[in-house]
Amino acid sequence: MRQYIYADNAATSKIDKEALERMQVFLYDNYGNPSQPYSFSRLSKLAIKEARETISCCIGSDPDEIYFTSGGTESDNWAIKGFMKRQSKNRLVVSSIEHHAVLNSANTLKREGYNICYLNVTKEGIVLPSFLEKIMDDGVALVSIMSANNEVGSIQPIGELARVAHEHGATFHTDAVQAVGHFNINVKKLDVDMLSASAHKFNGPRGIGFLYIKNGTDLYPFMDGGAQENGFRAGTENVAAIAGMAVALKNNCNAIEENNKYLINLENELIAGLKHNNLDFIRNGAEQHLPGNVSLSFRNSDGEMLLHRMDLMGIYISTGSACDSQNTQVSHVIRAIQVPSEYANGTIRISLGKDNTSEEVSQIVYALTKILKG
Ligand code: PLP
Repeated sequence: MRQYIYADNAATSKIDKEALERMQVFLYDNYGNPSQPYSFSRLSKLAIKEARETISCCIGSDPDEIYFTSGGTESDNWAIKGFMKRQSKNRLVVSSIEHHAVLNSANTLKREGYNICYLNVTKEGIVLPSFLEKIMDDGVALVSIMSANNEVGSIQPIGELARVAHEHGATFHTDAVQAVGHFNINVKKLDVDMLSASAHKFNGPRGIGFLYIKNGTDLYPFMDGGAQENGFRAGTENVAAIAGMAVALKNNCNAIEENNKYLINLENELIAGLKHNNLDFIRNGAEQHLPGNVSLSFRNSDGEMLLHRMDLMGIYISTGSACDSQNTQVSHVIRAIQVPSEYANGTIRISLGKDNTSEEVSQIVYALTKILKG
């Protein structure tokens, strides 16, 4: 029996057992540097090649379009700054609900004189293609819109947004950190030019991720040094993490439908339980959302207080609204979707994963009811 309930899977997730076993091979027995020509390194080199093939298969790319990075933050920084600095056009479009890896990359460019446009979203947290259409012109070099929002789970119409960007001659990047491994993504069908992913969001290890870069997309290398990653991201590869990430992604992708059905049932139980106990809350996000991601705003409450009281009861959740630069308790996402002020401060994110159970959901309902109703 677990002594705690982990319901913060959008922050990070438990490693897949098979991925962990695969990693151990390259951490202890087969630790050869993949760049060395001798036979001891052969398995490391092969593991990287196989991981690239497995990952490309999962997202519908070619293997040589996958570049390993240290995670979502690095992938976003590289895609945005590495691309923009190579362009003659100086306009970048991002949505107002992006992760700070994207927003702060844009802010850095802004300080350097680039022109940044922040797109509004609907109250459900959706960037409508018509919003993008309205602000597009031929000066836009890059549009970056996340596939699914990390706080409220809304899934964006990425294929349509990419089409609008392309019609105006812009390149399209998507931060798919919350999406990869959770719903089917095919970069060719969506026609995206760059896509960021992070292994620890799909039961892989922390500190590893990848950037899909469509062949022909022109951006600066992220790291100068050796010839690793085709000379675009130098540094000795983290073979164990790369191999573990590929196994985790393959296993998650093979179980997407089954997992999502399970998670939708769990979140329905959660919402039904809270309603049954007459708690006054709003559920944030769109109908089309990441399964298991439940963003709730409780009336006249305080998300920080809820997080800490739940922690004392052994239940780990998130506010999903880290204090931002304006020093309010309400995140940029909760503000962008215009959650009414009497609810906004009481926002929490419960992100259920495939290891959570019905029994745990009942305990979460019980704990929230006890805290809010005494
Ligand atoms: N983008 C999104 C949407 C995220 O949710 C996160 C992490 O929470 C990141 C980027 C950053 O990813 P990483 O933790 O791998 O740097």
